[in-house]
Amino acid sequence: MTATRWSLIGATTIAREWMVNAIRETGGEIVNVMSRDAARGRAFADEFGIPHAVTDLAAALDGVDAVYISTTNERHYAECMAAAKAGKHVLCEKPLATNYEDAAAMVEACRAAGVVMATNHHLRNAATHRAMRDAILAGKIGRPLAGRIVHAGTLPIQMLGWRLHTQGAGAGAILDLLVHDTDLMRFLTGDEPERVMTVAQNGGLAIAGIEDAAMSIVTFRGGFIAQMHDSFTTRYQRTSCEIHGDEGSLIAINNMAQAPAGTVTLRNQDGEVELPLVQEDYYVRGTRAFHAAIRGEGHPAVTGTDGLRSLAVALAARTSATTGKAEMVLS
Ligand code: NDP
Repeated sequence: MTATRWSLIGATTIAREWMVNAIRETGGEIVNVMSRDAARGRAFADEFGIPHAVTDLAAALDGVDAVYISTTNERHYAECMAAAKAGKHVLCEKPLATNYEDAAAMVEACRAAGVVMATNHHLRNAATHRAMRDAILAGKIGRPLAGRIVHAGTLPIQMLGWRLHTQGAGAGAILDLLVHDTDLMRFLTGDEPERVMTVAQNGGLAIAGIEDAAMSIVTFRGGFIAQMHDSFTTRYQRTSCEIHGDEGSLIAINNMAQAPAGTVTLRNQDGEVELPLVQEDYYVRGTRAFHAAIRGEGHPAVTGTDGLRSLAVALAARTSATTGKAEMVLS
């Protein structure tokens, strides 16, 4: 089997910390890395033994089968469209874009080009969340009625940049975090978000006009309701995800993270048990599924369309935070 040849579009923190390893661990070969800054790109290439560092997109797309796009969010659209046009498979970071129309065009361009497109929402790959989904599908909590996600903590120093000050790059807790929560709730319940109501806060970490925390309430088409707390500012909070059904509850603690972690407790008429988990790197698992999809074996863990759905909720939430009203999610 020949290795999938990759370009890393963006010499980024997420590529450095997780995705170089995930691509290689699952059989991919990284051919080049693209940065607008030649020196930064070269340093990144040297750090990871990547043969080429390039500064323009055409060079990045030359001689590769797939791209991993992890630049800031406003750049994903042009990079994805060019990659699809060149017939490259696309693994794109979330949020797919900073507006709905761009993200929809990206999904359509990949479909028309016949390439695999995936969104790098990592939390579906977590052992915690897969165990919760299995339990729900097995009827362990009856009918899922309500959920709650706390995706609140602090930003490590390497992330104290564009997220806090560059509106055009898709800064703020809503586009950065709520997209993950939404994707996770869709995965767990199989239900589709319909309306969202959000209040946003500036706690002084982000510049004025950009929210560094938000609380949202989402109603789903099938009747499920959920609350989400997304924040960069509450350093000592524990993350969690709860799904409550008419016959039981699932409670995950310390689960909304990048590194494998967390526990899940099932509470129902039989009492309380901790679900057994076999933890694996979330990004490795997702990239393995992406490689398989390229070979025609199944679908990516999170498709482009899934990324469009999570973005639609975040955009409606951002509007709601401004209008003060519940907003319909575009579909
Ligand atoms: P970074 O801030 O590390 O990099 C983003 C861009 O900023 C790069 O493309 C680069 O531009 C530029 N840049 C990088 N380092 C420097 C520097 N030292 N000085 C100046 N500019 C620099 O991005 P993140 O890794 O935090 O996020 C990238 C994407 O990944 C986003 O879409 C984000 O939402 C997503 N993400 C997803 C996660 C997940 O779990 N799925 C987790 C974290 C992020 P250039 O390429 O031109 O050099």
